[in-house]
Amino acid sequence: SAPETRSMKALCWHGTGDVQIDNVPDPILEEPTDAIVRITSTAICGSDLHLFDGYQPTMEKGDVMGHEPMGIVVETGKAVTKLKKGDRVVVPFVIACGHCYFCRRHEYSMCDTSNPNAEIARKAMGQSPAGLLGFSHMLGGFAGGQAEYLRVPHADVGPIRIESSLPDEKVLFLSDIFPTGYMAAENCGIEEGDLVAVWGCGPVGQFAIRSAQMLGARHVVAIDRVPERMRMAESAGAETIDFSKDDVYDRLMVMTAGRGPDRCIDAVGCEAHGTGSVDAVIDKVKAAVHLTTDRAHVLREAIRCCRKGGTISIPGVYVGLLDNIPFGAAMNKGLTMRMGQTHVQRYMAPLLAMIEAGKIDPSFVVTHRAPLADAPELYKTFRDKKDGCVKVVLKP
Ligand code: NAD
Ligand code: ZN
Repeated sequence: SAPETRSMKALCWHGTGDVQIDNVPDPILEEPTDAIVRITSTAICGSDLHLFDGYQPTMEKGDVMGHEPMGIVVETGKAVTKLKKGDRVVVPFVIACGHCYFCRRHEYSMCDTSNPNAEIARKAMGQSPAGLLGFSHMLGGFAGGQAEYLRVPHADVGPIRIESSLPDEKVLFLSDIFPTGYMAAENCGIEEGDLVAVWGCGPVGQFAIRSAQMLGARHVVAIDRVPERMRMAESAGAETIDFSKDDVYDRLMVMTAGRGPDRCIDAVGCEAHGTGSVDAVIDKVKAAVHLTTDRAHVLREAIRCCRKGGTISIPGVYVGLLDNIPFGAAMNKGLTMRMGQTHVQRYMAPLLAMIEAGKIDPSFVVTHRAPLADAPELYKTFRDKKDGCVKVVLKP
């Protein structure tokens, strides 16, 4: 007999600035390597805002969003060997097969086989990156994890089992932002004595700051304009610059005797704000009428500020063609640039070990906890940085 089709609640994209809770069919096993997970906690990410705000192309009405989930395995495909029903798992946002050229190099976000819509991505980018959960059709069209249930492809390669009794909030961010902040700091190639400047004190910036410290930065300077986010950075020992009050370049030059920060992290990405600077105003106008895809003020500023021979690490997401990037400055100053969607699978086990050893408690970043039904309202709260919102955890 035909299996009964059940429905669940999920947060769906309906258009720019419009997300709603819909009833959608429960996910089912589609491949023998799939698992189905009942979601217990799921977070909203700055990357979700790029979809919400209409920066990420190839979103379709009804797409289920979300890529920072964890929960309990309720079903596994025949080929799944590492997970079984009842396991408690955190699910990475990157989907990776584990056996292609890139996965064998542990470059999971470049997996060659996990994006079923690779041809669309190839036309846009030359080659396709990995499929991502809840992240547009160009990147696979996979339903996301802001839902009661999630289909997890390649279940043996992604999810990490949580054996300890650590609460969800301490391990949930292994799905994305802790590895992302950590890889951002690792990509800097920090040397002893380095000053690291981090643009953006959102969740990714917060983990980049703490990771830079763990990887040996002498001094971390964090840039934002949202007071509670700057305070959160200061509580980790970072010095802060308010870009709405001070000239970032001038302040950084004073701090470094004119040499510039050794390592710069752009944890802002394609929706950077400027305070009246000409480039940022032009970006805003062009983005509004779709003449540019990204607002790249922070990347420009980081290139200008970085010391000669320094590194720019870019966890912030960019989407398309950026205007007015001072590439001549980057070339002549001999900068190194490293970037990418995070190779989450590479970092989950070592970072879980750090959490279990009590070296870091990632739950410091959580400011809002709510049922899934409140997600549409909380997308706005998080986007507008209202009510002290830094990170939202939803409970389906
Ligand atoms: P967020 O929107 O909460 O934080 C961005 C912060 O940047 C805000 O606090 C904002 O005030 C600040 N900001 C804006 N303009 C600025 C400027 N000119 N100078 C300094 N700060 C400025 O987002 P988040 O969750 O922290 O994510 C940050 C970025 O990281 C996003 O682009 C997101 O898409 C990206 N991301 C990338 C990966 C990856 O795998 N590479 C993973 C997760 C998130
Ligand atoms: Zn994310």
